[in-house]
Amino acid sequence: MINKTKPACLLSLALIGLAGSLFAQQKDYPIQPVAFTSVHVNDNFWQPKMEVNATVTIPYVLAQCKANGRMDNFLRAAKKLDGDKLSEFPFDDTDVYKAIEGASYSMQNKKNPQLDKYIDTLISIIGAAQEPDGYLYTFRTVHAKKPHEWIGSKRWEKEEVLSHELYNSGHLYEAAVAHFQATGKRTLLNIAIKNADLLVKTFGPGKIEEYPGHQIVEIGLSKMYRVTGNKQYLDLAKFFLDVRGPKGDSYNQADKKVVDQHEAEGHAVRAAYMYTGMADIAALTGDTRYLTAIDDIWSDVVNKKLYITGGIGATGAGEAFGDAYQLPNMSAYAETCAAIGNVYWNNRMFLLHGDSKYIDVLERTLYNGLLSGVSLSGDRFFYPNPLASMFQHQRSAWISCACCISNMTRFLPSLPGYVYAKNKNDLYVNLFMSNSSNIKLTSGNVNIVQQTDYPWKGKIDITVNPDKTNLFTLRIRIPGWAKQQPVPGDLYTFMDKKPLPVILSVNGQINSFTTEKGYAVLKRTWKKGDKVTLTLPMETEKVLANQQVKDDRGRFAFERGPVVYCLEGPDNKDSLVQNILIDKNAIANANYHADLLNGVDVINAEGKSAKRQLNSNSLIETDQQVKAIPYYAWANRGPSEMTVWIPYEASAARPKPAPTIASKSKVTASLKNQRMFNAIKDQYEPADSKDTNYPYLHWWPAKNTNEFVQYDFDAEYTVSESKVYWYDDGPWGGCRIPASYKILYKKDGQWIPVKNTTPYTVSKDGFNVVTFEPVSTTALRMEIQLPVDNASGIHEWAVK
Ligand SMILES: [Zn+2]
Repeated sequence: MINKTKPACLLSLALIGLAGSLFAQQKDYPIQPVAFTSVHVNDNFWQPKMEVNATVTIPYVLAQCKANGRMDNFLRAAKKLDGDKLSEFPFDDTDVYKAIEGASYSMQNKKNPQLDKYIDTLISIIGAAQEPDGYLYTFRTVHAKKPHEWIGSKRWEKEEVLSHELYNSGHLYEAAVAHFQATGKRTLLNIAIKNADLLVKTFGPGKIEEYPGHQIVEIGLSKMYRVTGNKQYLDLAKFFLDVRGPKGDSYNQADKKVVDQHEAEGHAVRAAYMYTGMADIAALTGDTRYLTAIDDIWSDVVNKKLYITGGIGATGAGEAFGDAYQLPNMSAYAETCAAIGNVYWNNRMFLLHGDSKYIDVLERTLYNGLLSGVSLSGDRFFYPNPLASMFQHQRSAWISCACCISNMTRFLPSLPGYVYAKNKNDLYVNLFMSNSSNIKLTSGNVNIVQQTDYPWKGKIDITVNPDKTNLFTLRIRIPGWAKQQPVPGDLYTFMDKKPLPVILSVNGQINSFTTEKGYAVLKRTWKKGDKVTLTLPMETEKVLANQQVKDDRGRFAFERGPVVYCLEGPDNKDSLVQNILIDKNAIANANYHADLLNGVDVINAEGKSAKRQLNSNSLIETDQQVKAIPYYAWANRGPSEMTVWIPYEASAARPKPAPTIASKSKVTASLKNQRMFNAIKDQYEPADSKDTNYPYLHWWPAKNTNEFVQYDFDAEYTVSESKVYWYDDGPWGGCRIPASYKILYKKDGQWIPVKNTTPYTVSKDGFNVVTFEPVSTTALRMEIQLPVDNASGIHEWAVK
């Protein structure tokens, strides 16, 4: 039910290596990334994932773009294909751009002449689809007889709302810069320059003074400025920030001037791209007003709006940030694009401030809420990344709004660009993965070799090989989790606060070290072969959320190093996990399983399962062994139960249902998605009709139709009462209480309406009880008339 009200999407990227710049601009980040092309990752964790991205995901996404009409959009705009049929969304062009961006990065990691040639073909089609003055937006150029409703009759007319014309340009620029840097070819860059020059002519003071409806063009223009040196691009990027607000909508961060924003609000992906753009433009122009705003917003996010997985954007309504501490688990939105945007933004914050706390957030996001977006096989994807499930979530082979899929495609090959950074003679080691890298410091070149089994083991060996014996400073990040602080601020804490030692040795000698801004500082004269060993305390920790997060009360989450764990059905008794309790003091052990989920650490603990019983509020508790797996690896074995937050108090558990007529019945309904069927008999009473924290059944997007649900009993029963709790997610969502309903029972193969003795009611936020003259039957059916303009849904249906 994503995109029920407004569209979604996406984000951008990365650190282009500055090596590709053609000129030296005057101002920039004080700290510079070490381009991913200089960092050769060869570990057992990330390297295989990057390999799957290159060999499975990129070809798969290119094929899906073709199969789902994205290439045809360009061909039709280029008049190389007849007809005016277009794919679904006006931002669909960006999936092709992002696939090209990902392919370009991947070709830098490993040459691929065949892919190179295919990308050339795509670029020639894109060029042919561009209008003579540089405009490039297939949804207008095709001149469909029925134009998409998001598009105005004139260019840019609906840009501030939903046309995504500038959004498409932003992704074009990122792809063009990546392709140029990967191949040295200017083909796509020239297309991008022509388009950017049109924007410079069209937008600005005294010209069209509008802001982008979906941010990203700001990041794209900054990259174009870096590569071409054309300062008009930077000025335009700055203009697009400054023209934003205060008369717009909070949905796309346009209700205030950007420099007056101090809390994260609205659509999370738009927001993360905007904050990233603000950091870029602050760095490139020296304008510090943007910094004050994004520093405050960052603090708001990490203290109040960040999932333990690093996901952001809690609510599906508007794909947006929720209120402070509003972090529901089963209905968590935490879009994959927003996680990628969070990585971009936190990396920029680090480059500005040189503080490891930003990399702590980046690392958490990377290993958890970002990586969960793609299956181990590389061809199944999550858009929202929930933290609990009762079978209703499953990765998709394709999604009509494919932003998250193409975003993942382009992100993974650029990952090595986040491992190191430098500032003159300071060399930052931010992430831990085996690699060999060549880095240019002011004092000379240095080759760095990292060897580690991170994230499973906490020992990291770093060999330092300067070209010549040389004085410089190694700044090695000591992760927050190794200092008993999982996330900066007080949103999450470890239950066991006793600090464990972090040991650093140089050439075998234990070295006492000072820390600055979260980094161990090793300033010395380095010679070839010097060896630094960092040993981090890789322990199984129980994490607690701030008491104000009501969805996590009475629960903890397992974490080891940067990896957050979850319980999943296939590893636990009866494939159930929502009914599991683990004592706060339970001892948990971790073991590496090479044959499970491509090799993971599994956590084992003694726990209990809880079960409801009839006619009593007390629960039946049974001892059982509990297993937890890394969160990123869930949903690779089919739909299942899953939870990140594990109850340690019985009140927080969701026990197995008691045996009632309903719980023992087989459910059928006028619905294809059978995964929703059991929701109506799981005995979870919602907080109110719009509560999405438990499973529910719904008919969205149907409206004004007559639908049914049916219980086939396990035996004949005499029944005389029905109670139903309606799902209604107004005003944002598409479901409302039904127009009417009635109950029928089965007699001799026929459906006969019951004779009700109380009226049928349809009200929100409580059970609607109806009593009727007793009937003996083997099945009951509820017929529901949906409202004229909406769907309806059911949380729970009980019969007596
Ligand atoms: Zn997305």
